[in-house]
Amino acid sequence: MQNGLEVGALFDDDFGESIADLVSRMEPVRPEVVRATCVFQTLRCLASPFRSKGNRHDYYSLSQPAHRMQFWSHSWHGSRWSKILTLYVVQNATAASALSTALAVGPLALSTLRLPSLKMLSFPSFVPFCFVIALVTYGVVSLFWRRRQLVFMDRICIHQSNHLLKAEGLISMGAILKSSDSMLVLWDPTYQERLWCLFEMAAFLRSRPQNQEPHLIIWPTVLGPVTAAASLALVVACGAGYASISLTIAVGLGSVPFWLLVGASTGLIFFKIADAMRQYCREVESLQHQLQQFRLDDALSYCCTVGHVGPSGEQMLCDRLLVRRCIDNWFGSVDQFERTVRTEVLEILVNQLSTAVVTYRRVLEAPAALFWLFLDLTCAAVYGGDMDGSIRQLLRGLAYWLAVTPTVLVAVYRSANAMRRERKPPCLDRLVSLLLLCFGLGCFLCFVAVEESLVWLLRDQLQLPISVPGAIFAVLALSSMALAWQGLKPSLEWPTSHFR
Ligand SMILES: [Zn+2]
Repeated sequence: MQNGLEVGALFDDDFGESIADLVSRMEPVRPEVVRATCVFQTLRCLASPFRSKGNRHDYYSLSQPAHRMQFWSHSWHGSRWSKILTLYVVQNATAASALSTALAVGPLALSTLRLPSLKMLSFPSFVPFCFVIALVTYGVVSLFWRRRQLVFMDRICIHQSNHLLKAEGLISMGAILKSSDSMLVLWDPTYQERLWCLFEMAAFLRSRPQNQEPHLIIWPTVLGPVTAAASLALVVACGAGYASISLTIAVGLGSVPFWLLVGASTGLIFFKIADAMRQYCREVESLQHQLQQFRLDDALSYCCTVGHVGPSGEQMLCDRLLVRRCIDNWFGSVDQFERTVRTEVLEILVNQLSTAVVTYRRVLEAPAALFWLFLDLTCAAVYGGDMDGSIRQLLRGLAYWLAVTPTVLVAVYRSANAMRRERKPPCLDRLVSLLLLCFGLGCFLCFVAVEESLVWLLRDQLQLPISVPGAIFAVLALSSMALAWQGLKPSLEWPTSHFR
């Protein structure tokens, strides 16, 4: 929440106490004030409710009275575009991934018919139908999917220009939090500095019935840009792969230009991702230090930074009055609240932030570009009547998508944490990020080398069908993925006994 009680202008200081009492009772002023909106409305026009500055647009009409919803808690002081990208990635990626991969299989079914009119599915006139269909579907669904889950987003569900409606919404904040089944936190490093953000989280924890685990979902806003950049790099790398295949067919070039092309086009993006991962690990570490020393008086609030004078020159009530009063009612004392933030809130934030960036589900939701590429190669083999080769390509696609990529990702993430310390001068720090990138590339090349060795041994030396090394490679890759993934626990050193 950004504006706090700008509406305090409507009340005198004594009345502020009464407002605090109303909020802390967690009852709505009127039932219709508890409102929610659909996820897709928050993302309309490239997430304009998150982008528009001030109160120029009112989105209140996009909300409706609701009984149950998910509460979105976020700071207005971090990067807006990172937040928006993260929402697109996490809200629409499941649908985009499922639909794109399902449609990518279409050309494979057609290739089994081996119709003469479809000869462009095969060499030499090789057209990447699976890849193009899947990529277009992924992009369109990511941008335009209409997810209807009900959520509370402050700028839409609280009127921004009508002072009375705005006051009713803010006073009913306790009731809104109480009506929320879960809370989604869009975390960036400014989150724990903001009074309202910590207040919302504390109120949500307090509003849960006894013995019920709070359903808190925390997404770091770095997730969106990193996922988008990694997806872009993968798509570019696959595009380079197709270019290499076409060049090889047309002018007989070998694989060296392919690797040069891939390296040049994606190296910089992957370097930025490696750097961002290290920075993120540092931010989570710094969050621990900040929250361990948390004091309510140190948290920042909008009203104090503008000297309690609103945009039109009106006097504003200080949010701290309301927050303190509610905290006294909910937690008994400010000391107890600060202890809750230093232990309970800190544990939830650190545990989720350590594991939220790299999850297996995220890997499945990213564009499965490598799998689409191997699907095209499978189509070509099927159309050419090479069943053995087609089984191998399909197995390779599944292995690289479901096992190799996630294994490399986990290895890089854990190493990023180990190498997170910022080095001086900056060029030395960049060198560390470059080392991390080389480590990731090395891990990937190890898999490629294992695959090549299996082909050499089993097909070239033992004359076995090529689907045999394909199957063995898939089993090996899946096993290494299971091993690597099992060890991914909250990866920053944290004495959990501290909480007990
Ligand atoms: Zn203030």
